[in-house]
Amino acid sequence: MAKIISGKEVSAAVREQIRKECDELKAKGIAPGLAVIIVGDDPASRVYVNNKKKACADVGFVSEEYALGADTTQEELLGLIRELNNKKEINGILCQLPLPAHLDEKAVINAISPLKDVDAFHPSNVGGIMIGDYNFLPCTPAGVMEMLHSENIDITGKNCVVIGRSNIVGKPMAMLMLHENATVTICHSRTQDLKGICSKADVLVAAVGRPKFVTADMVKEGAVVLDVGINRDENGKLCGDVDFESVEPKASYITPVPGGVGPMTIAMLMKNTLKAAKIQNDIR
Ligand code: NAD
Repeated sequence: MAKIISGKEVSAAVREQIRKECDELKAKGIAPGLAVIIVGDDPASRVYVNNKKKACADVGFVSEEYALGADTTQEELLGLIRELNNKKEINGILCQLPLPAHLDEKAVINAISPLKDVDAFHPSNVGGIMIGDYNFLPCTPAGVMEMLHSENIDITGKNCVVIGRSNIVGKPMAMLMLHENATVTICHSRTQDLKGICSKADVLVAAVGRPKFVTADMVKEGAVVLDVGINRDENGKLCGDVDFESVEPKASYITPVPGGVGPMTIAMLMKNTLKAAKIQNDIR
């Protein structure tokens, strides 16, 4: 039977620490501020934005929401980002993705000042992560690493397999594991013998976006299984990329969905916003 790593518990501890540091900043007259931009009315994006605003209130940050209509033009959106880049009270800016199809996501990401890019999506921050010289870590992969740290799981020399190669999760996930001296394999939709590769993993990260994709026959006895996926199953119930029922008895540690990586991602966003506030106020 696996030990369940609760994202709820680990993220609560991270948030507690952020709350303390936020109070210290406030005592110096600095109130960390996050601006969240949402364009259109995608229901999933609305849930994520509400959760981020709640998390800000919970740790004591100021949050500003900019809810723009689905017909917002590229120029209007870039104009808002320029304004927020210059706004002193705002330390972090995030634009909830995906954007409506007529908007250019790449241009939007590039427009956010790297010093306020708390999602760590800007190419200069992505490059920094590649060479191990960064201010902000990408929130979801950083959340996964924090879960490993919370259990003192040392991945040095271990076989770590990441399923998924997205810019947001898979690729940076692999890089963070490499920074901690793991031997990392990235699998994707064209990988041959996925089952064979996964079943050799000491640590398996699933970031595929397919409900219950990872089954027990893909998992080594005693593996650490980290589930990034957020999907709906055939009954509309929230589930991960891992078939929890069948995998849990084989794993040594496993993360649940919901209550796993999701809350960690938001906690890491708060951590990045705190860091942004410190950097912008010359506090190290
Ligand atoms: P994505 O669609 O951009 O990437 C999915 C990846 O899975 C791709 O690289 C693709 O090559 C790979 N893939 C698809 N089918 C495959 C197959 N049959 N075999 C092997 N690989 C396959 O998705 P993403 O943005 O990386 O997100 C992945 C999942 O994580 C989604 O469920 C998403 O909702 C979730 N997510 C969760 C959080 C969180 O906070 N927990 C954050 C971001 C994304």
